[in-house]
Parts: sequence; C-alpha cells; structure tokens
Amino acid sequence: MPSTDEFTGWLGYDAQSVNGNLKKGTFNPKIFTDDDIDIEISHCGMCASDLHTLRSGWGATPYPVVVGHEIIGKVIKKGANVTQFELGDRVGVGAQCYSCLEADCHECTSDNEAYCPEAVFTYAMTYANGDMSYGGYAKTGRYPASFAFKIPEALTSEVAAPMMCGGITVYSPLKRNGAGPGKTVGIVGIGGLGHFGILFAKALGAEKVYGISRNTSKEADVKALGAEGIIATSEPGWASKWNRKFDLIVSTANNSDMPLHDYLAVLKTGGRFVQVGLPESPIPSLQFRPLINRNLHIVGSLLGSRSEIAEMLELSATQGVKSWIKTYPMEDVNEVLLLMEANKARYRFVLAN
Ligand code: NDP
Ligand code: ZN
Repeated sequence: MPSTDEFTGWLGYDAQSVNGNLKKGTFNPKIFTDDDIDIEISHCGMCASDLHTLRSGWGATPYPVVVGHEIIGKVIKKGANVTQFELGDRVGVGAQCYSCLEADCHECTSDNEAYCPEAVFTYAMTYANGDMSYGGYAKTGRYPASFAFKIPEALTSEVAAPMMCGGITVYSPLKRNGAGPGKTVGIVGIGGLGHFGILFAKALGAEKVYGISRNTSKEADVKALGAEGIIATSEPGWASKWNRKFDLIVSTANNSDMPLHDYLAVLKTGGRFVQVGLPESPIPSLQFRPLINRNLHIVGSLLGSRSEIAEMLELSATQGVKSWIKTYPMEDVNEVLLLMEANKARYRFVLAN
C-alpha cells in the first residue's frame, strides 16, 4: 500500500508523454519507513533513459510514471534509522534507490549493488511491498537513505545532478576497466554520458582520449572537454586508420545500428569494449571472429556502486570536473523533452524547481 501523502510531479500517462505530454499532478509515494528520507527536489537532470521509459521503448512502462533519476535536493524529513543525514543536508539520488545490502548478498558485498537481485530503480519499478518508485521530475521525492549521497560543497547542484546517473554510468566502467596512465580510451557517442566519459577518462589519468562520433560536428566540444580529438565513423576507412589503437572503448550509443564491428576493429589485442547505451532493439548481428582473433572482451555495465558514486563526486570536487549543462525551469519540462528528443542537449539538460 503506498502512502496517502500526495507529492506533486510531472506524470507520463502513456507512450505519447515523450512528445512533451507530461501532465502536472499528484502521486502517492512509497510508504514512509524508518530508513527513508523525503527530499525537496531542487534539480533533476534529463537522461535518455527517461525518454526510453516514457515511450515504452524498453517494454511496457507501468504508467502513470514520474521519470528523472539525476536528483538533487534538501532532506526535509528522515526516518528514525537515518543517522547519516541531518534535515537540510543537500543530497543526490541517482538511478538506483534500493538494494538489499544484506551480508549474504554476493552483489551487495562485492561493490556490485546495481546488480543485486532485489535492486529497485528510481522510477517505474516496484518495491518488495508493491509500492511504485517515482523519479525526480517532481517537487518532492521519497527514497531509502542508503542510496542518497551528500553533495560536496564545491559542486553546484546543477553540475552535480547529471553526475548521479550520466556521470557514474561511465565513471564506473572506466575505473573498472583500467582507464588510467598509459591507456588510450575511446568514448563512443558524445551525448550526456559520452561527455562525462571524456571528462572522467581524463580525470582518471588516461593518456589519450578520443571521442568516437558519427560525424565531426562535435569536434571543438570534444577537444574542449579534454580529448585529443574526434573520430568520425561516417568517414570511409576510419576503422582501418585507427586499427589496434585503443585499450578500452566505452560505448554510450543508444541505437542498434551502431557500427559495432568497426568499434571492435580499433581495439588492441586483449582490448575491452564496454557497452552502457541501451538501444531499444537488438543489434543486427555479432561475429565472433574479431573477438577470437584478438582476445577481445565485450561487457555491459550498469550504473556504479555506492562507493564509486561517492568517489566520483569527491574526485569531481577536487579536480574541478564540471558537467556541461543547460538549466531550465521544471515547469517547462515538456518543451525541454522535445529539445532532448531532437538531440539538442550539449550535453545535459537540467530541470530546476
Ligand atoms: P544521449 O542522447 O545524450 O547520447 C547518446 C549518443 O549516442 C548520441 O549523442 C550520439 O552521439 C550516439 N548515437 C546515437 N545514435 C547512434 C548510432 N546509431 N550509432 C552510434 N552512435 C549513436 O543519451 P545519454 O547519454 O543520456 O544515454 C545514452 C544511453 O545510455 C541511453 O540508451 C541510456 O538509456 C543509456 N543509459 C544506460 C545506463 C547504464 O547503466 N548502462 C545508465 C544511464 C543511461 P554522436 O552524435 O556523438 O554520434
Ligand atoms: Zn540515466
């Protein structure tokens, strides 16, 4: 049974909601427990996952839904078991809001909370008791405190918001797959996640970082983000030119017609290809030969662990990593959705209450 409390948010009622058809209204959040906090939301970043979900692109969405999982705000209520926050603290919540955190959970005890069989994501999912999870396109949010994070003073709320999902989703695989000194790293897809890919690969000390984009239109941005340059996949022969140059590629491409075999061709022997973008349809085919001939590793990666989120925020604060954002009033969310659908973000839109 959800709570009878009424929170105000921007709700999607059907697949048309992605076309700028969210409706402002109220919803009943999860029941408040001793482990929860209520957050007065000040900012919420817009992730491509919000659009996939609104249009039921990944399967039927349980409407009505409130999307948004790059949430920053102030703690305005806390349960009896919540000792890590005080009322008024500025916190962030990302795309995951619950995992079991039990001592006998393989995932939760190995820094892999995102893969916990009981994981609940911040919107469009149900908690064990059947309550729905609701995201951050709202005035208020209610989440288990264990998946909220203090935001370092040095980061403004606008800058921190998109790090909560877009940032951590590339930070974690970069870190886990060895982006660092001596390594050449490629980031496929220069969007919200991709721009963080360049920023964090550099912050982690990767020797050379390249943006791998469909064309050269983002070249100046890619360089300003710190990369050595851009590689355009529309250029004939690009994969031969860059043959065996990369130790690691993190791909944020979110359409299944990506040139996967070309991406694999530019990896060194033993190289790693990490896919984080989640297209709505399957990739057309995958040949094993390039994997076998070069001992390549293809892996997927989901979000990041709680310790990695804290580490990413700290690193961003100390190294001055800044998200590239444009902030709009939350009231204008429907217009901003259309801009996002039209690929206008450079590189993240943030909604502000
Ligand atoms: P954006 O729309 O901001 O960026 C996606 C980028 O992908 C585009 O900018 C484009 O870059 C590239 N792209 C688009 N179509 C193609 C194509 N056909 N071939 C190659 N590249 C393409 O989205 P986000 O960065 O917000 O999200 C990216 C994906 O990651 C989404 O699917 C999202 O749901 C998913 N995601 C996954 C998470 C996880 O835990 N694994 C967490 C969060 C999001 P360019 O113009 O440079 O080619
Ligand atoms: Zn996201």
